[in-house]
Order: sequence, then C-alpha cells, then structure tokens
Amino acid sequence: MSVEREVVSELRAALNGRVIVPEDQDYERARTTFYGGIDRRPQAIVRVADPGDVAHVISLARQSGLELAVRGGGHSFAGHSLSDGGIVLDLRELQSLQIDPERRTAWAGGGLTAGAYTQAAGELGLATGFGDTGSVGIGGLTLGGGVGYLVRRFGLTIDQLLAAEVATADGQLLRADAETNPDLFWALRGGGGNFGVVTRFQFRLHEVPSVVGGMLILPATPAIIAGFMAAAEAAPDELSTIANVMPAPPMPMVPAEQHGQLVVFAMLVYAGEVDAGERALAPFRKLATPIVDMLRPMAYPEIFAPEEGEYHPTAVARTMLVDRIDLGVAEEVVDRLESSEAPVRVAQLRVLGGAMARVPAEATAYAHRASRIMVNLAAFYESPAEQVEREAWVSDFAASLQQGDPGVYVNFLGEASEAQVRRAYPGSTWDRLAAVKRRYDPTNLFRVNHNIPPAGTET
Ligand SMILES: Cc1cc2nc3c(=O)[nH]c(=O)nc-3n(C[C@H](O)[C@H](O)[C@H](O)COP(=O)(O)OP(=O)(O)OC[C@H]3O[C@@H](n4cnc5c(N)ncnc54)[C@H](O)[C@@H]3O)c2cc1C
Repeated sequence: MSVEREVVSELRAALNGRVIVPEDQDYERARTTFYGGIDRRPQAIVRVADPGDVAHVISLARQSGLELAVRGGGHSFAGHSLSDGGIVLDLRELQSLQIDPERRTAWAGGGLTAGAYTQAAGELGLATGFGDTGSVGIGGLTLGGGVGYLVRRFGLTIDQLLAAEVATADGQLLRADAETNPDLFWALRGGGGNFGVVTRFQFRLHEVPSVVGGMLILPATPAIIAGFMAAAEAAPDELSTIANVMPAPPMPMVPAEQHGQLVVFAMLVYAGEVDAGERALAPFRKLATPIVDMLRPMAYPEIFAPEEGEYHPTAVARTMLVDRIDLGVAEEVVDRLESSEAPVRVAQLRVLGGAMARVPAEATAYAHRASRIMVNLAAFYESPAEQVEREAWVSDFAASLQQGDPGVYVNFLGEASEAQVRRAYPGSTWDRLAAVKRRYDPTNLFRVNHNIPPAGTET
C-alpha cells in the first residue's frame, strides 16, 4: 500500500470525523475554496469532528511527511486552505458556540464563520467585531488580525480575543491566553496559522443592541473621495467605514443609468446611540446627493449582505497601508480606475485608527497600529490574457499610491515571497515570531500559510 493509502486507512480507523478522498462524490465540492482558479488536489480532506481528531491528523501528517494544509472558512486569497497532494485538515464541522451573556464572553469553534457567530451573538444584543463578509472563517480572519465594521470602536478581532485552544505540531492540546503560554498567545494574534490549529477561540463580547449604518453610494469624483476620507478620519471612534471606489454594480437599488459608472460604494457602521449615529453620518450624506442612501438603524448582523453560495471570483489584488487620501491621491485613484476595462475593479479604502490604534504595536503580532488607512486594490479576470493585463494594472496602481509605509496586512496578501511576508511582520515582530515558531513548530509542519520559517529565514 502507498504511504498515502496507508495514511487514509489509518485516519479512517482512528477518527470520529470523515475522510474524503478523490474517489468520493463530494470531493470536488470539498476542495472548492472561495476564490476560483485554485486547483489543488489533496490526497485526503479530513473533516475533523473534535480536538482529538485534530491532534490525530497533525500527528499522522508529521509521521508520514505529507504536506498539511488547514482549512477554516476557505477564504484565503493565496489558497492556503488546500494542499496539492497532501492532507487538508478541514475545521468546518467545529461549529460549537457557547455564549456567556453575563460575563460577555464566547467560546467559538475554529470552523465557524463570522456570519454564524455574529448572528447568534446578535440575538442577545452582543457582538465581537470580525470583517465585512459573513462567509469568512473566524479562524483565518482572527489569526491574521481582523479588520472590520467595529475596528475603530473595539479594535481588531485579536483585541477581543481572550484565549485560544490550540493543537500544536507535537500533537498536544494547549491553552493560550495572557497567563498560559503567553508567547503563543502573542503570536496567534496576527501571526496566522503558523503555530498550530486553533480548535476554539474565546472572545470578548460587547453590548451592541443596534447600530446605525448600511450602504451609501456617492458619485466618485476626486473631491468626494477625499471628502469621504476626511470625514471618516474626523468621525468618532463609534464609526467605522469601508469605501469601495468601483463601477456601480447592477443592483436593483442602483438607478440603471448609474450601472458601470464609477461610484463610492460605501458601507458605514456607527456602533452607538441612534441620534449620535445620525449626527456622525450627516457629513457623509452632505458630500453629494447620494445615488443610494440606505443608512438606517439596524441590528448589527443585518450589515452582512446575503451571499451567493457558488460565487468563486478570479482576481488579482494588492494590499497596502497609506497615510492619506487627499485630493491629489483621490485623482490618481479615479484616473487609474478609469484606465481599466475590468468590469469589476475596485480601490477599497478603510480608515483605521480609533481603538485599534490605541493598542501598543508590540502587544500583538499585528504590527501596523499606527498606519492610518488600508488600501486594497483588485480586478477580476476571466482569461489568462486578462489576468496578465490586470496584474500589470494592479501592480502599477499600487506603485502609484505608495507613500513610504512598506507594511501590509497579512490577511489580504495573496501568494507571497518571504520578503513580502516580512512586510507584514516588520522588525522585531518577525524575530519574535520566528522564536515562537522554533518553540512550537520547529520542523515547520504548519507551512501552508504566510510562512514564518523557524530559522527566521528560508534556507
Ligand atoms: C470576500 C472576502 C472578504 C474579506 N473581508 C475581510 C475583512 O473585512 N477583514 C479582514 O480582516 N479580512 C477580510 N478578508 C480576508 C480574510 O480575513 C482572510 O482571507 C482569512 O485568511 C480567511 O480566513 P478563512 O478561515 O476563511 O480562510 P482559510 O483559507 O480557511 O484559512 C486562511 C489561513 O488561516 C489558517 N487557518 C484558518 N483557520 C485556522 C485555525 N482555526 N487554526 C489555525 N489556522 C487556521 C489556514 O491554514 C490558512 O493559512 C476577506 C476575505 C474575503 C475573501
């Protein structure tokens, strides 16, 4: 029997969960990730049922030498939740959620999505801040940092993380928090999946009985973009915004004559009192006559748009951090977007600051606390020729916006060289992460990720 077959039968005998192999009917579906164009064929996809299964898969991968990939929500841009020829440790069945409303804490299974967690917590008027999309896994999102609609109010997702239960490379199940294995806890907060598999996260919950926010679509002139950014920076911490400068999608609420025109498609969330929220939103409404104004009081989970199950875009993208989007930069943004023919192309602008910026840079492995604005550029493609053209476009666009901050947010990175990963973890953060890696994963078993090699550098 080949090593692979032997491993599969050992897994089947030992686990409570399910082992899916290429011959199985649901194999194709099981290896599908959010992004299209990622065609890797694992030998086995193991849908683990409990932490014991997780530890077992880790041990077998280590002994067999087969590559191990770990899947949370499957939204990694680089396709890190799939291995070609190895094993996928698929956490999707780890869906437990225990909410303690008195203490305002929640233990959440490592396979939950942000949407499922937010919905359940929202029913109690409670929330933990994740990202902008419900189908993203809390696993990858949290381990990279987590920037979303509550970022200025409550900080990054990792700022709301109290503890984690982790299966490490030697098959142990450890707890990590401020007192227990604090080095591991530090590294998990931004360092990604490098240190082990988190089977459960414990989060702080906040009382968020309602928010004021939703969708606001404005024309995308340079003055309106710059005005939007200035208003977002001046806003109270309760308000977090995501402004997508992009061609207006053909949504029913968007007037037909606007479809395809460049707009500021913004999502805003004010987490606080309704009256104060209306006041905080007024400057945005005043920038121009809105094309669409759906800002309103709502329960927080309503902010997550419904998603299509079988939506698997192929895209090129860049992520970066900048200090300002003033009129000159906004002109560049508009010019660049107008110069492409991609039907879906976007410059996403997220004003940071607030609670996330008050955490010291060295407190967690997310090192960009002082950076003011996150920019994500993307264009979709259909054919290899389009991919080449759009890659050049996105690369020139990013270069034109560079303002000297070389930092990047790891969760929006695609395939990345060690030099690019180092930009996510500058200076002493990298050295500290490498030291934790040496301690918890000296053989680099967890390497299908934005990798931090144990030696601190690739050999
Ligand atoms: C449509 C979309 C919207 C997004 N919006 C935001 C946003 O608003 N804010 C934001 O911060 N990010 C956002 N992201 C980025 C997102 O945070 C990352 O892609 C993240 O890695 C996805 O996590 P996942 O578990 O879904 O992905 P996966 O591909 O399953 O995992 C990503 C990485 O994390 C590892 N991993 C996952 N779970 C675990 C675990 N439990 N233990 C150990 N390792 C694990 C995997 O091995 C892999 O290396 C978005 C991504 C998409 C596609």
